[in-house]
Amino acid sequence: MVNPESVKATLREKGYKLTPQRRAILEMLLENQDKHLSTEDVYMLVKGKCSEIGIATVYRTLQLLEQMGAVNKLNFDDGCSRYELAGDEEDHQHHHLICLSCGQVQEVQEDLLEHLEEKIRENNHFEVVNHRVKFFGYCSKCTKK
Ligand SMILES: [Zn+2]
Ligand SMILES: [Zn+2]
Ligand SMILES: [Zn+2]
Repeated sequence: MVNPESVKATLREKGYKLTPQRRAILEMLLENQDKHLSTEDVYMLVKGKCSEIGIATVYRTLQLLEQMGAVNKLNFDDGCSRYELAGDEEDHQHHHLICLSCGQVQEVQEDLLEHLEEKIRENNHFEVVNHRVKFFGYCSKCTKK
């Protein structure tokens, strides 16, 4: 899991500083680990800590962190980009279950695609290093209705 210290080291390597604002954004993502926050959400949360921060700074910081591989940018087809901290580099991204009725997003941590990845390696001579899997359907609350 990404921690602020390792991000700080990577930023320094690339000639960036971990400013208080960047740190606040990272910590907010860490505190809201499985929430899949939009730029707007991050802005509202960070504003509580750094009242002088602007949404443009939040936007640029999230882009920078994404370029560094510290955060994943997610698109759940709900009209906005969402962000979450990236896992360890060698781990594949977890899968997301998106409810078509209420929009709730759940995570599936198990990869379970090793068999498919092996097949792809054999049949397509393609080395899979990651994947973004989205399942669309209805959550337990919505199927009960
Ligand atoms: Zn995988
Ligand atoms: Zn639902
Ligand atoms: Zn997630």
